[in-house]
Amino acid sequence: MAEKLVIVGAGVAGVNAATKLVDNGFPGENITIIDMGKDPYLRPYSEVMTGFLGAGGWSDGKLTYHTAIGGHMSKYCGEEKAMELFDEVINNFKRFHPKPEEVQCSNPIAEPDFIKPYFGLRLFPVWHVGTDYLHEIGKNWYDFLVDNGVEFIWETKVTSIDFDAQELFIGEEESFINPKNWPINYDRLMFAVGKSGIDFGKQLATDYKLPTEPKPVQIGVRFEAPQKHFQKLIDVSYDFKLYRKFEEEGVSLRSFCTNNNAAYVAVEETYGDHSYNGHAKKDESFRNDMTNFGILMEVQGIDEPFTWSRDLVSKVNKEGTGLYYSPTRTPSTTSEGENVSAVTISEMDEVREAFQGYYTYIDDFIDDMKKVFPTLEDDWGVYIPEVKYLSPEPLVNYDDLSLVDYDNVHFVGDALSARGITVSGAQGIYVVDSILETHFPEEYPEFFENY
Ligand SMILES: Cc1cc2nc3c(=O)[nH]c(=O)nc-3n(C[C@H](O)[C@H](O)[C@H](O)COP(=O)(O)OP(=O)(O)OC[C@H]3O[C@@H](n4cnc5c(N)ncnc54)[C@H](O)[C@@H]3O)c2cc1C
Repeated sequence: MAEKLVIVGAGVAGVNAATKLVDNGFPGENITIIDMGKDPYLRPYSEVMTGFLGAGGWSDGKLTYHTAIGGHMSKYCGEEKAMELFDEVINNFKRFHPKPEEVQCSNPIAEPDFIKPYFGLRLFPVWHVGTDYLHEIGKNWYDFLVDNGVEFIWETKVTSIDFDAQELFIGEEESFINPKNWPINYDRLMFAVGKSGIDFGKQLATDYKLPTEPKPVQIGVRFEAPQKHFQKLIDVSYDFKLYRKFEEEGVSLRSFCTNNNAAYVAVEETYGDHSYNGHAKKDESFRNDMTNFGILMEVQGIDEPFTWSRDLVSKVNKEGTGLYYSPTRTPSTTSEGENVSAVTISEMDEVREAFQGYYTYIDDFIDDMKKVFPTLEDDWGVYIPEVKYLSPEPLVNYDDLSLVDYDNVHFVGDALSARGITVSGAQGIYVVDSILETHFPEEYPEFFENY
């Protein structure tokens, strides 16, 4: 008899995990997925981070296909297995895609000479699902899981977990009276809450004194400029990643998540503060001929990197939103035609102060881009800040991503060490591989035939 698996978070990791289970004959009735967002039929565009497929549901739909980017996968399972898992995630997106033939892979091959004196250029393959198809993919995928018996509990935020009693709670302890008979029990738990749940992950890490791995700070700005200045590079690599490393100072910088053609800056809200990200629309009617990307700095060796980043972010929030600086431009509009929320500043002093000396690296990055892309000059702007709160990463067993002290609790996706869709999905599938292999070798022979 299969055990009861509860997945907290119907995001990329949780949904890929459930799919892998169902595909291998695990009874869907034994899987419960709880999410604080909505199902794909009800989820509005404004709910960027929550609901079916999580942050991946309204993302830019770019599935990176390389182990060197997007967080950790190969550290757990080796290069070859990681690539196999990535294939499974990409195949799932194709499988539920209304037009799978449109899922294309861009695979640039050579670093152009004009970049070399100033930047390294990371070139890697990316599969493009297409933002405009994500909604349909979500609906098809959801229907498949529901048809196979998987239970979904929507608009329900899990607020505490008793790892010893194997129970999940919502709300305050007094408010347990509800139609679903909370608390819900589990035999095995997958904690797949993504970025929108990192405060919850942190709370659990504190409550259970979970040992964690040290993390760097990842912070910077979202850079935006007319696409024409970067066209020479975009022709070589649509998703170009410029990078540079200052080994001795423990600092590295990279351009992050480049969007072109119909490129929009998006506001993210975490812990009540605003930060920025970007996305691109596929539909030609959204074309604005802009390019945006994060300039993200990774700083090693900062004590309490999480607190440090949060403190910086709150210092560069004003009047309830982030900041915009440009020598010549004004903030752009969102894909819905509204102004991107930001307070425009004319001087960078307060920003430099908040970054405690580290902003110089970003200044230099922009200065060198002006050399590589000579028409750029002062025709650019930055939205401040862009931040990646790397959740305090609990120490897990590498063979199944279970907590070292609770081997029936698995952390996956952005709640662990993933950054992005492919790695998050791969981590969900990896855990399932291991659950089936270790706990049900005889019950699921289909799995072993395919393995
Ligand atoms: C605007 C934007 C664009 C992006 N574009 C790309 C891209 O093009 N390519 C790429 O690789 N990555 C992209 N990303 C990142 C990518 O979406 C995430 O890395 C990925 O979705 C993480 O998967 P996950 O399953 O770990 O978490 P998520 O997909 O975020 O899912 C987590 C789920 O958990 C639920 N949840 C959280 N806390 C609780 C709780 N306490 N109780 C119940 N439910 C809870 C949330 O509602 C959510 O549905 C983008 C992100 C954003 C915000």
